Amino acid sequence: MEPRNIQRNKTRAVRIGSIHIGGGNPVAVQSMTATKTQDVDATVGQVNAIAAAGADVIRIAVDSRKDAEALKEIRKQTKANLSVDLQENYRMAEIVAPYVDKIRYNPGHLYHHEREKPWQDKVRFIADIAAANDCAVRVGVNCGSVDPDKVGLFDEEDSISPMIASAVEHCEFLDGLGFTRYCVSLKDSDPSKVIEVNRRFATERPDVPLHLGVTEAGMPPDGIIKTRIAFEQLISRGIGDTIRVSLTVPNDRKGEEIVAGRQILADIAAGRVRSVVDFGLPTLNIISCPSCSRVENEAFVVLAQQVKEMTAYARDYAITIAVMGCRVNGPGETDDADLGLWCAPNFVNLKRGKEELGQFPYEDILPKLKAELDAIIARKTMA
Ligand code: SF4
Repeated sequence: MEPRNIQRNKTRAVRIGSIHIGGGNPVAVQSMTATKTQDVDATVGQVNAIAAAGADVIRIAVDSRKDAEALKEIRKQTKANLSVDLQENYRMAEIVAPYVDKIRYNPGHLYHHEREKPWQDKVRFIADIAAANDCAVRVGVNCGSVDPDKVGLFDEEDSISPMIASAVEHCEFLDGLGFTRYCVSLKDSDPSKVIEVNRRFATERPDVPLHLGVTEAGMPPDGIIKTRIAFEQLISRGIGDTIRVSLTVPNDRKGEEIVAGRQILADIAAGRVRSVVDFGLPTLNIISCPSCSRVENEAFVVLAQQVKEMTAYARDYAITIAVMGCRVNGPGETDDADLGLWCAPNFVNLKRGKEELGQFPYEDILPKLKAELDAIIARKTMA
């Protein structure tokens, strides 16, 4: 299917080294090294391998002064855009900033050192250092380490609101300092929470570029699937300016994070999605799953194409049709479509919303689908 024109949120552009995120720039893809940072050769090797796989920004773990010294050497040996996570030591900004293009801090971690000092002083320190060293900043809010002051303000069951309150507070503070070269991330290990927290934040601060990710996603393929579900629902609605797919893979396979990220972006653009997504456009929305080893009949691929051709006459109606490749995910994943099909070895199931309409041989499914589509159009026309 041809790429669709996704209406991206109008976030402001933020430069990270040689690239920009936000401001209508292509969604950037990031990854992280997993080598021991002090092993300069191995880390440079991995940075270059990840860059060769197509990474726009690569994060390096720096946890000590020795790591920071290694970073200085690594910087000399690569042109890749680098970032560092300050973890619990905000003062590390001063040591790493000269060698990287972006630094990340976690608002929930600013309480661990120099407890008597207000967080505002620490953020001002980080912003000043970033500005002086031509660095962007990521405000990285994580479900597992939310600012304790914010957690207490909301219901115990509500893990989303404290994350948003914390992120919004830091955005306002940075804006007040006149430092706007930042993005925000709001991460959780549950894709549905990643979707909700990012949607809500994007409503409150549509101008702030978002870095999307699902933490502890796990090993492929499950880790990719979890991440894909969150990204499908966000990127299809224009939310997200840079992404990271976090996978548990051996060091020499870290480039797979980039490959997976780029594949997910390409699939979303082409409407090859695992969950029903609504691109928010007033036109026919045909989506089909990207297919995987669970496909039981290769005819699925042909069917997806035939559905697209047969339904072309309905292009001006806001109707979603989902075509899924298997009986495992098909039944559940088509619930949110107006019409859903999923493929078994010898027949195709048809659904109208959540209602099952029956099983039909491959050669009979298109006329059945057309009859249902015509009925929906007739109802819309009369309404
Ligand atoms: S719907 Fe089934 S075949 Fe398609 S990607 Fe999902 S699991 Fe694979």
